[in-house]
Amino acid sequence: MDVQVPFVDLRSQHEPLMPQLLEAFRQVTEASAFAGGPFVARFEAEFAAFCRTRFALGVGSGTDALWLSLLALGVGPGDEVITTPNSFMATAEAISLCGARPVFVDVDERTYTMDPAQLEAAITLRTQAIIPVHIFGQMADLDPILAIGRRYGTPVVEDACQAHGAEYKGRRAGSLGVAGCFSFYPGKNLGAFGEAGGVITDESELRTKIQMLRDHGQAAKFVHAAIGWNARMDGIQAAVLSLKLARLESANAARRTHARLYHELLEDVPGIIRPVEAPHNLHVYHIYAIRVQNRDAVLQRMSARGVNCGVHYPVPIHLQKAYSFLGLKAGSFPVAERCAKEFLSLPMYPELRPDQIETVVQTLKESLQA
Ligand SMILES: *Cc1c(COP(=O)(O)O)cnc(C)c1O
Repeated sequence: MDVQVPFVDLRSQHEPLMPQLLEAFRQVTEASAFAGGPFVARFEAEFAAFCRTRFALGVGSGTDALWLSLLALGVGPGDEVITTPNSFMATAEAISLCGARPVFVDVDERTYTMDPAQLEAAITLRTQAIIPVHIFGQMADLDPILAIGRRYGTPVVEDACQAHGAEYKGRRAGSLGVAGCFSFYPGKNLGAFGEAGGVITDESELRTKIQMLRDHGQAAKFVHAAIGWNARMDGIQAAVLSLKLARLESANAARRTHARLYHELLEDVPGIIRPVEAPHNLHVYHIYAIRVQNRDAVLQRMSARGVNCGVHYPVPIHLQKAYSFLGLKAGSFPVAERCAKEFLSLPMYPELRPDQIETVVQTLKESLQA
């Protein structure tokens, strides 16, 4: 069967922007500002203003954002960094790339974000940072996490790669920890034309370190004060991101409207668990994930009926082969493991139409039965 509702539809996002996108491409070409440069500087200023922080730094990807933030904080071999197992692999990878060891804390069963009640028990003398992940577009319960961080002198780095514009008690995602890390991968709420990422911070020392690290450790041209990497943002990505940043709030509002309709239509559907928005949060629904038994069969049946869904993520990080050396067996993090079996991500993107949402829900109802 033809696809009735795709999981995401980037074409429908870009088509109305075509004249502005071509103009951005022309401007970057005329300025020959390809790697770093004025378009990146402009986007950094705009994104810092949007997040209400002093600084924003464009980097090559969300993975770079996490990795360079940890490096700039001095995380290295022998250290531990605490995060959650139900994230994209990159969160743990960034820790490992510093030479440190990821230590996992299970998540809250309602919000799927780090359970603050289990955080303190994971802290050791080696803990050098805590990375709560604002999974699916909802921020973790940061007040108790930040309080524990303060008590142990441990910096909190926010993985806001799925939460551009989300809020916690009126403050923007990424702006509460010492650093906030963003991915601008095309499918994220704010997406570039390829790979890109960003770090926001209020601390000028951290900003200077990340500026150096993203550019081969250069303090000035050909003066290499540290061993860094090539993690600069492209000019074309920055120009596209400036264009799309101006539309992010309305795009997030559209996602929230779609989530509300899903929520109403799914109210009477037995056997599913809908997402919960904590009262202090503004959820930006990067992913609209429900929970259902026999997830793989339901997913299959929906796809056969022309509705494409996703799974984020089918295997928690601690059970991935790459992390088998940690020796964490099934049962280590029961909530994350149960959720990984049950999560089903329904189609979600700003351009989704109400009739498509009704189709998704009708198809889900049929697929739950057989
Ligand atoms: C996308 C994502 C990343 C990695 O970002 P990239 O730009 O793909 O490197 C990290 N953490 C989370 C939670 C993500 O969703």
